[in-house]
Amino acid sequence: MAKRLGEGKEAIALDTAPQRLETELEAFQDFLLQRATEFRDDHTVTVDTWPDFVAAVATGWARALHCGAPDCEDEIKAETAATPRCIPLEAPAESGTCIRCDRPSAYGKRLIFGRSY
Ligand SMILES: [Zn+2]
Repeated sequence: MAKRLGEGKEAIALDTAPQRLETELEAFQDFLLQRATEFRDDHTVTVDTWPDFVAAVATGWARALHCGAPDCEDEIKAETAATPRCIPLEAPAESGTCIRCDRPSAYGKRLIFGRSY
């Protein structure tokens, strides 16, 4: 058995291989999810100014209020290549003005913006 992100190989008994592999695959899935979740959380920044927004989406994701207007979204995309990725269900209720145009926030909570590749 060789782990994709591990080192070397390990000999395992053929008769216990199915059970062992199931356990190993579950552990590997947990590891990948934890690693991705930590990366996401470490690279997501709550921002309230345009310069902070630009900096955040250059290296990860920005948590920001948005007016919901398509023209504003187009401007953001043209300048930063970032678009709204999701409106997190668990995000707390928040009001304020759009990160880009100062119109009122349309969603009652922050959106996650990021660049698409
Ligand atoms: Zn706006």
